[in-house]
Amino acid sequence: MKNILITGASVAGPALAWWLHHYGFAVTVVERAPTFRDGGQNIDVRGAGRTVLERMGLFEAVKAHGTGEQGFAFVDENDAVVAEFDEADLGSNSFTAELEILRGDLARLLYEHSRAHVTYRFDDAITTVAESETGVRVTFKHGEPEQFDLVVVAEGANSSTRQLLFGDEVTRKPYDLYVAYFTIPRAVGDDKTARWYNAPGGRSLCLRPDNTGTTRALLGLQQESAGYEDLPLEAQKKLLHDLFADAGWEAPRIVAGLDAADDFYFELVSQVKLATWTKGRVVLTGDAAWCAGPFGVGTTEALVGGYVLAGELHRHGDEYAAAFAAYEHLLRPYVEEGQDVPKLATRVTTPHSRLGISLLNAALRVAAAPGIRQVVAKLTAPPTDEIELPEYEPAD
Ligand SMILES: Cc1cc2nc3c(=O)[nH]c(=O)nc-3n(C[C@H](O)[C@H](O)[C@H](O)COP(=O)(O)OP(=O)(O)OC[C@H]3O[C@@H](n4cnc5c(N)ncnc54)[C@H](O)[C@@H]3O)c2cc1C
Repeated sequence: MKNILITGASVAGPALAWWLHHYGFAVTVVERAPTFRDGGQNIDVRGAGRTVLERMGLFEAVKAHGTGEQGFAFVDENDAVVAEFDEADLGSNSFTAELEILRGDLARLLYEHSRAHVTYRFDDAITTVAESETGVRVTFKHGEPEQFDLVVVAEGANSSTRQLLFGDEVTRKPYDLYVAYFTIPRAVGDDKTARWYNAPGGRSLCLRPDNTGTTRALLGLQQESAGYEDLPLEAQKKLLHDLFADAGWEAPRIVAGLDAADDFYFELVSQVKLATWTKGRVVLTGDAAWCAGPFGVGTTEALVGGYVLAGELHRHGDEYAAAFAAYEHLLRPYVEEGQDVPKLATRVTTPHSRLGISLLNAALRVAAAPGIRQVVAKLTAPPTDEIELPEYEPAD
């Protein structure tokens, strides 16, 4: 039986672990966080990701843990609706997907689904990887060195093991966009519809429902990197407080909530690109391999990646290099489609001037008109269905 190490226990890692165990592999997952990480905001699963969940027997459980979001509205400074897109009549093409769930809830479902058969080790991380003809010798920050047949890196966009092994081969494509996610108290007016507001200065603010009695807030700032991503957390909060306090709409409530939030997550959006995801017996998956940025495909692609990688390893037996090649061949066009978001998109959707916001709102009004919205939704939906999932033989 092949002995496989996965690093990272969020979405990609536990999904892959479940499939590998399903095909009879022995799996260890190492996660650097001290315990299982529950945090994170609203994410969605669409298209082929939904099929993977069905094949894992998890679809109903994920649906039952949904955030309850039923639609997505663009609003103006007075909270008047400019354009609304609801899930009921647009289905999976809507801004709100059929499966909207908090990242922590999805990750926990995947973890619980796999943990009885997979060894999870928290508070540890790889320090060195040395490959030989017979396997990979791995040393850890805390645990004893161990030998594995294969290593899969599922450490997310800022993976340090990927950096260690692939170094200069990694390209980050910046999107000139900062995004902060955090949780604030629910207030009257927060209902099942997500609300998005654009303020001058390339600022966007969004409030989304959750299933835990609070409200999930997002602040977006369209600008080139200014080093904010390297500031200490409290300095990042203060900066956003200063930048958004006068943004109008619900900004005072959101920045007040920002100060108290204990799940603040701040990132400079960029994509991850590599010419190849494999190096000998090591392979990358999920955001570590192909992060597309927050454009609605990352979670679906992490689930699909796990399904295909495990399936190809099962199909190819001892020929791991052939399995990796098949995985890359199948997945690459799919994730490249997901990354095909023009850099200009963030400038268009977060205008800087009042005129730009008026023009965007006028376009959104047209896009949301009955009869047109179905077409627009289809055209703007993330390309999460653009892969034919292989059927793999069941395990012996
Ligand atoms: C705490 C958190 C909150 C998030 N919040 C949002 C959100 O609000 N909205 C959104 O769209 N996306 C969010 N994401 C990203 C989203 O989960 C991913 O885009 C997507 O689901 C793909 O998941 P992934 O498993 O490939 O990567 P990730 O979800 O990024 O998970 C990577 C995992 O690897 C672990 N890790 C990192 N480095 C190491 C290391 N050296 N050794 C061992 N383990 C390591 C991390 O702790 C994490 O658990 C969040 C991710 C995390 C970790």
